[in-house]
Amino acid sequence: MSRFLFGPVPSRRFGRSLGIDLSPDTKRCNFDCLYCELEGSRPVKKYEEIGNIPPSPTEILEELERGLPNFPNLDVVTITSNGEPTLYPYLEEIVEGVERLKRKAHLKGERWKSLILSNGSRIGEEKIRQILKELDIVKLSLDTANPKTFKKLDRPVRGIKLEEIIAGMEKFRQIYRGELIIEILVVKGLNDTPQEFEKLRDALSSISPDRVDISTIDRPPAYRVEPVPTEKLWELAKILGNFPIYIPSRLRETTLPQFPNLSRQELMETLRRRPLTEEDLKLFPPQTQTLFFQLEREGIISKREIGTLKFYSLRP
Ligand code: SF4
Repeated sequence: MSRFLFGPVPSRRFGRSLGIDLSPDTKRCNFDCLYCELEGSRPVKKYEEIGNIPPSPTEILEELERGLPNFPNLDVVTITSNGEPTLYPYLEEIVEGVERLKRKAHLKGERWKSLILSNGSRIGEEKIRQILKELDIVKLSLDTANPKTFKKLDRPVRGIKLEEIIAGMEKFRQIYRGELIIEILVVKGLNDTPQEFEKLRDALSSISPDRVDISTIDRPPAYRVEPVPTEKLWELAKILGNFPIYIPSRLRETTLPQFPNLSRQELMETLRRRPLTEEDLKLFPPQTQTLFFQLEREGIISKREIGTLKFYSLRP
């Protein structure tokens, strides 16, 4: 039985993922987000503030090494936590171990990438930036660029400052050659206004992530907060400009009407303004999809893979 491994989980955002949980016994997080779906304890500054001593990295990595042969064809091995993984005191050893096992797996023909899912709270620390930069994909959350909203929505422990997180993300981008993904979770009445997204756009343009994922609540949250309609996510996404943006289609399939039929010129303009995923393209009527394939054959569309998602845009 696995104590630290879970999955493989099929994820639209990252493909087939095998997870490593660095806090399997209880939730440990330095935020207390209104939308959190994890049951648990008060927010903590340090891993050791609650419960037992941390599990040893050797114990975790041995379990990963034993488990990996059972899960061929993974897309990612994901460092995560029942809470925030950067609170785990031996994160450096875990990252080194995962990278070592990845090199071994690649020699045997596997192709998975290493990924961490973090709330971004410690990216202002040089040590954490140095550790995370070794990974192939780093996903950091940034729900808002407004300190007041940050306090209300993500409810960090005392001492965590949004300005330092954003500055840390900018510094991280300067040293990180892998795929940097920023995730924004939108909550009704809190960070769903154009003003909020204008601030986020300014922050994102200096962070320069490879991809931005925008979602809303889709599982029962810890507190009484509500999701926004999917149409709203698309509206807000437009404010962010031309980043590769991913809005999960699980929500789209149920609530969003199909995209309109576009002329050749309109489709080219759309692709110029914002890269589209394969899933986005499926939301257009067949005539527009045919036009897309025609543009592709003409060689004026470029394709870029970020995480396991393919984004299409107009060649510059
Ligand atoms: S950062 Fe993640 S784990 Fe922590 S409170 Fe927020 S949603 Fe929950």
